[in-house]
Amino acid sequence: MRLALKPALSRSWRDSDTLQFGTIPQHAGVLGNAAADALREFLGLVDGTRDRPALLAEGERIGFGSDPADSLLDLLEEAGVLDDAEAADQALARFPQPHRDLLGPDLASLSLIHAPPGAAPAVLARRPEHAVEVRGAGRIGAAVAAVLAAGGIGTVTVADSGRVTPADCSPAGLPAVDVGRLRATAAREAVDRATARRPGRRDRRPRPGLPDLVVLAPRDGSGAFAGGTPQARELLRAGVPHLYVGVVEEYGVVGPLVLPGVSACGHCLVLAREDEDAAWPRILAQLAEGGSGRAPTPACDTALATAVAGLAALHVQVFLDGGRPPSVDGWCELSAVDGMPRRLRLKGHPDCGCLWQPTPPH
Ligand SMILES: [Zn+2]
Repeated sequence: MRLALKPALSRSWRDSDTLQFGTIPQHAGVLGNAAADALREFLGLVDGTRDRPALLAEGERIGFGSDPADSLLDLLEEAGVLDDAEAADQALARFPQPHRDLLGPDLASLSLIHAPPGAAPAVLARRPEHAVEVRGAGRIGAAVAAVLAAGGIGTVTVADSGRVTPADCSPAGLPAVDVGRLRATAAREAVDRATARRPGRRDRRPRPGLPDLVVLAPRDGSGAFAGGTPQARELLRAGVPHLYVGVVEEYGVVGPLVLPGVSACGHCLVLAREDEDAAWPRILAQLAEGGSGRAPTPACDTALATAVAGLAALHVQVFLDGGRPPSVDGWCELSAVDGMPRRLRLKGHPDCGCLWQPTPPH
């Protein structure tokens, strides 16, 4: 393990003797008596080129002392300021160039979330193993797919049919020049571009088996209320985690992220709405594919769709990296009226039964 001060952390002097690593209070580590020349010189040596024994030997050589160097490294590790540069190099080496170079800031961000040395590189190194399927390559789905691929998810597939319409285009997903092309092809190329690959190269082998997660992003925004559909039931049965995302009128919705058998599902949400509005199932039926009640021009603000896609991709990343995003047992709404996000809780509905069925093997 070659130790380095985390490159993501700024360094500033609180006073003539106190060095602060990082800016935001949660991440800031503070080091007192930091003005001494030997200590400053020693900190300069923690640059990712030496392991701990070599650093202790260097500490002795420059007159700082081996024991003080040992204590200082412990202190820096406890403060979450140290990372393993060797593991970082190995994690980045899992990505082909030029995508590798683009991931430097992403790894730097992970190093602030996963504190111990080597923890963030381990998270990044796992991302190429993950597979995500995005269903729907509209204004939101294509952007979610591109952002996830950019962040290092190894297999991002997009399922859709039909051709690109102006309503599918956004700067984060399908460009306007793709209008008229096959949506599945255009979305695949958006994913390739996001990873700095030449579009159309087919040297990437999709991971076999079920994806780790499915993003349900139907182009008509019905991802926001698609619980209870046959494809949702199929995902529940197969034990595949899935995330609903969509824009309905002026609202963007991210969630629920369903962990089959563990957290409330999309049908729980439909039933909860039915409790509040007895006419909801009837309305829902008219909004379904081929339904008579669909809006002639479904609303989808580009900025809202982009924010929703980014939030959805972030929740997927948090989940695949081992965390629990707020869309589990809840959902997040974002309004185009004021841009204000809010999170709502979702409980398993007693009439749904998704939480008492045995979890199928994944
Ligand atoms: Zn349910």
